[in-house]
Amino acid sequence: MIDTHTHLDNPQFAADWLEMRSRAEAAGVTQCLIPNVDDETLPAMEELERAHPDFLRLMIGLHPCHVGADFSEVLDRYEARLAADPDRWVAVGEIGLDLYWDKTTLDWQVAALERQLDWAVRWNKPVSIHVREAWGPLLDVLRPRKNQVRGVLHCFTGSLEIAREVIDAGWHLGIGGVVTYKNANAIDVLREVGLDRVVLETDAPYLAPVPVRGQRNEPAHLALVRDFLAAQLGCTAREIDAVTTANAQKVFTLAPSHGGTVGQD
Ligand SMILES: [Zn+2]
Repeated sequence: MIDTHTHLDNPQFAADWLEMRSRAEAAGVTQCLIPNVDDETLPAMEELERAHPDFLRLMIGLHPCHVGADFSEVLDRYEARLAADPDRWVAVGEIGLDLYWDKTTLDWQVAALERQLDWAVRWNKPVSIHVREAWGPLLDVLRPRKNQVRGVLHCFTGSLEIAREVIDAGWHLGIGGVVTYKNANAIDVLREVGLDRVVLETDAPYLAPVPVRGQRNEPAHLALVRDFLAAQLGCTAREIDAVTTANAQKVFTLAPSHGGTVGQD
């Protein structure tokens, strides 16, 4: 399995990072992709990647909740990093729109998103997109770029109608702990659209799946999401692992890993 969106630079992992990695590998997680949030997250991410190059890949981007008045200068710096060494970054992320925390910055958020989508086109990178209470404005940005940018709508919680539209436009859906929550509609959406465009993610340390909901999330818990999907969709854990890993390798252009199959169905 590949955890395609996980904040392993978060200080909540500082005390037991190596144990967290061991648990992840024991659970069948072979690789983790860390999205950037802002200037504060980058140094810790880079230090981790230097120590664990076989296990981690990094994204570069500015999170919509951290788009402030200085966003142009921040993006100038990230663009310079991307241009200097494009291979270093597996994707542009996490980028997107968030109107839950702050509606007043929508214009800045849209401008930052458009510019970062342009990078994805220029450097042929996938993107990891965050959207919260902003499906309308997000689709306004994405529709003119149909099939021009690839990537993942991370923590997908949209309607079946939106799922069908974004899949038709070439996007993948990031599925994590939220799918296991009571009243979550994502599982009903997946029953309709299938797994062809699904990748797994934890968004650790946030959004831990049932039955560890409310605790610190970590990549090992991806197995709980995989098992939930297998039970709900009537297939084996091995099948969920195989299809979501292949999807992640394709959308993020990752080399196939050596190990990584689950031990049991
Ligand atoms: Zn995130």
